[in-house]
Amino acid sequence: IFCCTLNAIPHNGSLLSKCKVPLGLYIHPYKDIQNLTVVSSSVITRCRVCRAYLNPFVTLLSNHKWKCNLCFRVNDLPNEFVYNSNISINKRPELRNCTVEFIAPSEYMVRPPQPAVYLFMFDVSFTATSTGYLEAACRIMKEELDKLPGDSRTMIGIIAFDSSIHFFNLKPSLPQPQMLVISEVNDIFLPSPDDLLVNLQESKELVLSLLDQLPNLFDSSRNVHSATGAAMQAGYKLLMPTGGRITVFQVSLPNFGPGALKMREDPNQRAAATKEIPQLVPATDFYKKLALDCCSHQICIDLFSLATQYADLSSLSCVSKYSAGCIYYYCNYHRTNSAISMKFESEFRRYLSRSLGLEAVMRIRCTRGLSIHTFYGNFFVRSTDLLALPNINPDTSFGMQVSIEESLSDLKLACFQAALLYTNTKGERRIRVHTLAIPIVASPDQIYRSLDCRLIVNLLSKMAVDRTLTASIGDAREALLNAIIDTTKAFKAHIRSSQKSEVILPSSLKLLPLYILGLLKHTAFRLGTSTSLDARTFALHQFNTLPVKTALLTIYPALYALHDLDKNEPIRTASGIVPNPPQLPLSWEKIYKNGIYLLDAGTIIFIWIGKAVDPRLLNELFDKDNFLSLPDTYMISLPELNNALSSSVRKFVNTLRLSRPICPPLYIIREDSRFRKEFSQNFVNDRTEATMSYFEFMVHVQKQLI
Ligand SMILES: [Zn+2]
Repeated sequence: IFCCTLNAIPHNGSLLSKCKVPLGLYIHPYKDIQNLTVVSSSVITRCRVCRAYLNPFVTLLSNHKWKCNLCFRVNDLPNEFVYNSNISINKRPELRNCTVEFIAPSEYMVRPPQPAVYLFMFDVSFTATSTGYLEAACRIMKEELDKLPGDSRTMIGIIAFDSSIHFFNLKPSLPQPQMLVISEVNDIFLPSPDDLLVNLQESKELVLSLLDQLPNLFDSSRNVHSATGAAMQAGYKLLMPTGGRITVFQVSLPNFGPGALKMREDPNQRAAATKEIPQLVPATDFYKKLALDCCSHQICIDLFSLATQYADLSSLSCVSKYSAGCIYYYCNYHRTNSAISMKFESEFRRYLSRSLGLEAVMRIRCTRGLSIHTFYGNFFVRSTDLLALPNINPDTSFGMQVSIEESLSDLKLACFQAALLYTNTKGERRIRVHTLAIPIVASPDQIYRSLDCRLIVNLLSKMAVDRTLTASIGDAREALLNAIIDTTKAFKAHIRSSQKSEVILPSSLKLLPLYILGLLKHTAFRLGTSTSLDARTFALHQFNTLPVKTALLTIYPALYALHDLDKNEPIRTASGIVPNPPQLPLSWEKIYKNGIYLLDAGTIIFIWIGKAVDPRLLNELFDKDNFLSLPDTYMISLPELNNALSSSVRKFVNTLRLSRPICPPLYIIREDSRFRKEFSQNFVNDRTEATMSYFEFMVHVQKQLI
């Protein structure tokens, strides 16, 4: 949930800069947690000076006093602690758990906790409706409507937009939803503002009926305009009094009214030799400004982009980036494309049913002498250490850099504390507090041993995203390469290595070059004309928000041989015994044509079947006699067959898919499938026409060392 790139903090800044390793924190603050400790005590004990919350790393000086581990001030313990003989002080939950949640009293409220308010906005332009997305979205919403988190106060509204804004009056006394069309989009006003957002329970029948009608309502429309900006402005006006969540479905380029965008992509110019891509920078500040307005009224805008063509995601995504929203992207969505529609369905279902925090802020404090700067993720920075988050969802993470400002030599522990104050969908104000303590050390050896390669790669990728947007892809790529070179040089100086041209890294970082090569080949940072602007923008965006485990799998996917599933001892998990096959290097050298392989790329999983596949495997897994009887496109699920191999493969696949918040779709392809490129582009270790193999890359790095 909360961790650091180093598991030992250097005792001063010069030791850190000597080691040349990035110091930063990663936090997944609202992650779904089973057995979350909730403290409902009437007093929330905090330091008088720095406002830190009582935590397991404070010093208890007596039964009456505690010393803050962030600013070292001595504070009084509240009477409740001293005189409540039922719980001894040492057993207090806030002194025993690194993550606790408090039920906040009224001092923590600026206004009474607001209800959950959901506004859904659908692009109904011709381009949009012809993809068939509206039917799918409405069907899924109908099925999941009861799972929307909330209570009896939950409100809902629905808007559709093409060149006009179509509002729907859902007042419970009406027999049918009533459509109100506003075609003057340049100065949008709300018709009948009191009946557009309604109580979900009271108007449920009308909402369900509207979701039934909506796809047919715009079926015959040939309107090619999309007044997205105006629709968002209308949503902002509607939610201004309460705050809440706006979900925008966007298919065509927003090309009408305020915030209209233009086609900026020339496929031949994508990431050309100059390595500068001006179109990655927003074309207008309209969406950022709107996001900031939304943010100050506790409104978050989430974006589902199902674009069939260029949709200028780099401009449009600002609306979510600065309002703490999330972005989903389904390139070339069409109802008949079962792989992409399955991905949309699984992600949209999760989106509707996952828990939600409203009116949130997150503050990060740290031990005196350290300072936190440069935050990564989707939020608005309200003051140096305070992030404004109109919404917080359980699938998003944040990163930040840490610097050492003063000597920490006389301390044993460096501590960090993140406090997330939010309103839950039951109308309760809550504070979730995460505390992290890391030993302070004085020797480079201890630092090098303590490095967390996964978190370092995660931080480097976020820094590279920033570099791409503020400078250029070329600069970002160079910075990634320099991360290996600088650390190698520093480490070699430390161990007094005389091997001038060899890449020698601390053993904790032995996978760093492989991950960096993966990043250089990633959709976000690769060169060449094959990557569309929107795909690149989305890939860049994902590095800032994806949980670390999934993010790493997108950089260096995990490859397993399914025909060798039982090579290692299986592992025992909560859900039973699960196969634990060895992970293979991402190289075609490791692929045998008579085998079946699984590639887990984080947000998508492939199963690949070789041309000369062993008929026994084919029979046991797919109930087929020969390779050619498999579909030449793809399959999306494994048949349930009654044999040991089939059952352990399915168990393995399910464990992988359910181990992350959003269940990734499965594509089963045969070697000659049309979709083989999507599979083979993940082979990071191999060279391609435009990229280096791992071996060539290491030679390249060595040359830079001299
Ligand atoms: Zn303090």
